[in-house]
Amino acid sequence: MFDENAEDLTPISRLGEFGLIEHLTREFENHNPDVVKGIGDDAAVYAVSEKEVHLVTTDLLIEGVHFDLRYVPLKHLGYKSVVVNLSDIYAMNGKPFAITMSVALSSKFTVEAMDAFYEGVQIACDHYDVDLIGGDTSSSRVGMVISVTAIGKAAKADVVYRSGAKEHDLICISGDVGGAYAGLQVLEREKAVFLKNPGVQPDLVGRDYVVGRQLKPEARGDVVRLLRENGIKPTAMIDLSDGLASDLLHICKQSKKGATIYEDKIMIDHEVILVGEDLGIPALTMALNGGEDYELLFTVSLEHYDKIKTMKGVTIIGHIVEEIAGVNLITANGSMLPLQAQGWNHFKD
Ligand code: ADP
Ligand code: MG
Repeated sequence: MFDENAEDLTPISRLGEFGLIEHLTREFENHNPDVVKGIGDDAAVYAVSEKEVHLVTTDLLIEGVHFDLRYVPLKHLGYKSVVVNLSDIYAMNGKPFAITMSVALSSKFTVEAMDAFYEGVQIACDHYDVDLIGGDTSSSRVGMVISVTAIGKAAKADVVYRSGAKEHDLICISGDVGGAYAGLQVLEREKAVFLKNPGVQPDLVGRDYVVGRQLKPEARGDVVRLLRENGIKPTAMIDLSDGLASDLLHICKQSKKGATIYEDKIMIDHEVILVGEDLGIPALTMALNGGEDYELLFTVSLEHYDKIKTMKGVTIIGHIVEEIAGVNLITANGSMLPLQAQGWNHFKD
């Protein structure tokens, strides 16, 4: 029995976000044989017929934790809250078709403000061809809380899990990384300047790309389609929400493999490098540990090397090795750096 006065209670920070999820769900077993995959991947998978599955994923966005309305326009927030969920469906190699949207609002929000938010939601639904099919609405005492659930579909045989990487597979990534984190740093810096001196306009000149990566991310359904058109089914896949290092570690842990990636192969936009110079943060640190890029990180069998090598917007950054070799980055000067999960983790000390 829970005794809140006991002396040896465990702070959640001791387990961290992933440890807490594992701890809380460790004794749950699935009662329904239709559940193909429950907890532990980007989306849950359940069978709807012998060959078809549906995919379900949900995310919570909390004002003051995930977004700051002092610089995030509500229309962008509506768009992003849809996109981050669709990204998890694509990460399973599926196609999203519906979302539910739940919001809790404090009294500071007006109808017009919520119109702007829903305008963003609608633009995302139109852009990604998904339907808003429900949700819930509540008041809140602590600002805005958003919960989105996305539902997708796939042929059962097409679903890609985090756990399928094989030794010698190529590690690939779409687009570039570190941008969303760099954009957040720019916005935070301008906010600090504004709070000190409200007359000053934000200076975002030359930082449009990274600010856009933070405020208006896209989910890489185009990459999923491109791979399919080329007859490539990744062996493992995850979307980059927590950071390249942390998300690669998820693939490796669940696949029981190691990985070697190369610093000089990782695509980093020049604006990320400039922001890094401004703020004294190495661009590599932002690329490895910055979250929210929503690119796809996936592994493919070596037989696809020629196709992948020439695929637009996809870069090979390394390869899968045996588990005992660990997960390492080879730096530009040739030294080996073990990767650690320093990405986004709620409840971290
Ligand atoms: P992602 O970053 O791809 O959204 P998460 O790290 O949030 O994935 O979640 C990992 C897995 O844990 C998912 O299968 C998710 O559904 C599950 N999960 C997260 N929080 C809880 C919770 N409180 N109870 C049960 N399952 C959870
Ligand atoms: Mg994910």
